[in-house]
Amino acid sequence: MPDAIPFVKELRFQYGVLEQVAPGVRRLVANNPGPFTHLGSGTYVVGHSRVAVVDPGPDLPEHIDALLAGLGAEEISHILVTHTHVDHSPGARALKARTGARSYGFGPHAQGRYQQGEEVEAGADLDFVPDLTLRDGDVIEGVGFELEAVHTPGHCSNHLCFGLRGQRALFTGDHVMGWATTVISPPDGDMGQYLASLSRLLERDDTRYFPTHGAPITETKRFVSGFIEHRKARERQILGCLDAGVSRIEAMLPIIYVGVPTFLYPAAARSVLAHLLHLVEQGRVVSDATPSLEAEYRRR
Ligand SMILES: [Zn+2]
Repeated sequence: MPDAIPFVKELRFQYGVLEQVAPGVRRLVANNPGPFTHLGSGTYVVGHSRVAVVDPGPDLPEHIDALLAGLGAEEISHILVTHTHVDHSPGARALKARTGARSYGFGPHAQGRYQQGEEVEAGADLDFVPDLTLRDGDVIEGVGFELEAVHTPGHCSNHLCFGLRGQRALFTGDHVMGWATTVISPPDGDMGQYLASLSRLLERDDTRYFPTHGAPITETKRFVSGFIEHRKARERQILGCLDAGVSRIEAMLPIIYVGVPTFLYPAAARSVLAHLLHLVEQGRVVSDATPSLEAEYRRR
């Protein structure tokens, strides 16, 4: 598959140090590197003296310690959570306990529309319940900043991005990242919603993205278009398999994921399932039974 997305894997940072990354925006990277977190979860601080924290990160006491040490006498007015995965939201609990700040998010973790199987990503944080729920378009007014909630389901049904008003900057969580494509894993991950949420970003005029993992993105449109094209290309491969009479996900994997080590097949299978669910939803593909990893699929 042609790779038009200009991925950036490098990130200049130091664990434990709250660093300025743009005017009014600081970042602290948690020491939780891994296959889904890249070098770690980036916790962002917006504003000065009374600040908002975007994605407090994993349940890692030294991360919260470093954040509070970096803030010194500054106060936290808002704790914002992009979505309920264990590398994003659990830190809210400790941060709230130590500062009294209230947490904001779309809502607790949802089960998704397709009730089957386990998720393969970092995992759901089933404990997080925001003090205040946000809906698309809600605006959080802080001291010297305004953040707008942008509902971007796909990676997770409760995923929010946060637009920093007046700066054409967007905190993109896991929706758009510069180092890798995001994981779309049913049941809660939804390919149709993800593609619609990508298209929504094309309508905005953001010139900078701050993803939770990896470096900021300045070629915003190029990344978003690249991710849409990447999924469309994958969809064409899946339809090509169906046209060739390959009807099961298991049999598609070695055809579609040439050269990919087989230990990644379970994750790849869930991604193909996400595509097939989307195709079934659109009426372009049918399955012999309820769509699942084991079902047989064919073109309509
Ligand atoms: Zn996530």
